[in-house]
Amino acid sequence: MTAAQQPIIRAVGLRKAFGNLEVLKGIDLEVAQGEVLCILGPSGSGKSTLLRCINHLEVPYGGYVWVDGQIIGYDLQGGVLHELPVKRLRAQQSQLGMVFQHFNLFAHRTVLGNVIEGPMVVRGLSRPAATARAMDLLEMVGLADKAGSWPAQLSGGQKQRVAIARALAMEPQVMLFDEPTSALDPELVGEVLEVMRRLADTGTTMIIVTHEIGFARDVADRVVVMIDGEIRETGPARKVLANPADPRVRSFLGRVL
Ligand code: ADP
Ligand code: MG
Repeated sequence: MTAAQQPIIRAVGLRKAFGNLEVLKGIDLEVAQGEVLCILGPSGSGKSTLLRCINHLEVPYGGYVWVDGQIIGYDLQGGVLHELPVKRLRAQQSQLGMVFQHFNLFAHRTVLGNVIEGPMVVRGLSRPAATARAMDLLEMVGLADKAGSWPAQLSGGQKQRVAIARALAMEPQVMLFDEPTSALDPELVGEVLEVMRRLADTGTTMIIVTHEIGFARDVADRVVVMIDGEIRETGPARKVLANPADPRVRSFLGRVL
């Protein structure tokens, strides 16, 4: 396997429990550079937890996560990280841009302020350099004219597009989306999906938890269906959506299609 073919993200045997509740029951997942992966599955199946484990916002009790060739392993015994390598953990996190259902914009910063904050504080960019890049990104998400607005003045769709620009400003290797359109009024969903579609077209590596089956069918290279903490089905979007092998996946898709 050449370097270019190495998966950019690889999870092996990821396990996570909250108390007695096993939420991830040994997840194996690989994502290739430039791949768009959609994760589908019923509410409570562990989709958010999987993203949060990949991003180290949750600590699994077993398994490994590689991001761009860097490994972090978790202790199978006590739920304790092996000698928590904080620097490596932060380095991995900075490779992953995260977009949440509820936007999580800084309410006390303007749109531009939201996008330049990370690059200036974390990456040490000068204000002019961060601003120039932020304006390009706001242009890309169609919100250059809102640079001076406050989050409270924006629609949900606009907020989410700012959140996407803010994540991209950190120049992550991979973008993770957790139900980015689930909190939006139906008429605002399309503008956010359109931005994501454009990102996919430019070769951005993306992992997207979504209930937008049409979007998954059109945009995803591959779909994963999670049920009860397990990946029950994976494959090309059209194949999985049209003809799932697993009966529980068939039943889930029958309810949402
Ligand atoms: P999904 O994103 O697929 O809806 P989640 O990953 O959010 O699923 O949750 C999976 C399961 O883990 C659910 O039963 C949920 O209630 C539980 N869970 C998630 N986060 C926590 C937490 N912080 N504490 C306890 N239980 C949690
Ligand atoms: Mg979720």
